[in-house]
Amino acid sequence: MLRGLFDFLSKSPVEAAPVPAARTLSRTRGTKTSSRGTLLISEKVAADVVSIFEQEYRVLRPRAPIPEFHIRFRRFVSLNTTIRLRDGQLHVSLSDLLEGAPDTVLHAIAHILIAKIYKKPISAAHNHRYKRFQYSEAVARQTEQIRSSRGAKRFSGPEGRYYNLEEVFDSLNERFFHGLLGRPQLTWSEQAAKRLLGHYDAAHNTIVVSRVFDRPSSPRYAVEYLLYHEMLHLKHPVSVRGTRRCVHGKAFKADEKLFPELDKALAFLKRL
Ligand SMILES: [Zn+2]
Repeated sequence: MLRGLFDFLSKSPVEAAPVPAARTLSRTRGTKTSSRGTLLISEKVAADVVSIFEQEYRVLRPRAPIPEFHIRFRRFVSLNTTIRLRDGQLHVSLSDLLEGAPDTVLHAIAHILIAKIYKKPISAAHNHRYKRFQYSEAVARQTEQIRSSRGAKRFSGPEGRYYNLEEVFDSLNERFFHGLLGRPQLTWSEQAAKRLLGHYDAAHNTIVVSRVFDRPSSPRYAVEYLLYHEMLHLKHPVSVRGTRRCVHGKAFKADEKLFPELDKALAFLKRL
């Protein structure tokens, strides 16, 4: 460990993002959790992540000595990440949702955090890579699942102000599935979420559709498309190839193209 030699020591400690409120955490999936909620991950994973941060540090600050990195994964409900500079050492907290993230995403996060703390420009490619990951459905789904298992799940039911999800489901079932799909629980989300528009929660056999679609400005084909997409998840369960989960496989995508107003619906979603 080297102390007192680094040029950035003269700067006062900075904080790139607020530290999230402490949570009472319980064990899941056999992961060891310390009393402070820090996930203890395998040493190999930790070493890999530290090396990614060191590489990105080198790129951003080619001549400065590499500081000691303290990286931990914490159980955040969102993709919260924090970085702090303290006594010349960088302390990084990453959400456990990032634990299985591809290396390219971890590189992007490392780059963004280090660039932020040293006020360097953030590379557009890294930023784009991280944003894409952030918005990917897999993460949204996982975030929502964790949120719902950690907090009380309150359902609003299928009857909205403008659309009844059961009625929409039944009509889609007739049109596209010969009426053969069993109807799961259907509910509007509590919040008018714009990021997570819909999801099928297999654990609760429930399709949740964002309340943002229960508006007169929302065309019926948009609600139908959302529900149709989630119904396809019922028809095509997630397959696992090696360590990768295949959520939207070939058959899924082929079926999705059968929806006549697909382009219009996607265009509407983009404008939300
Ligand atoms: Zn999907």
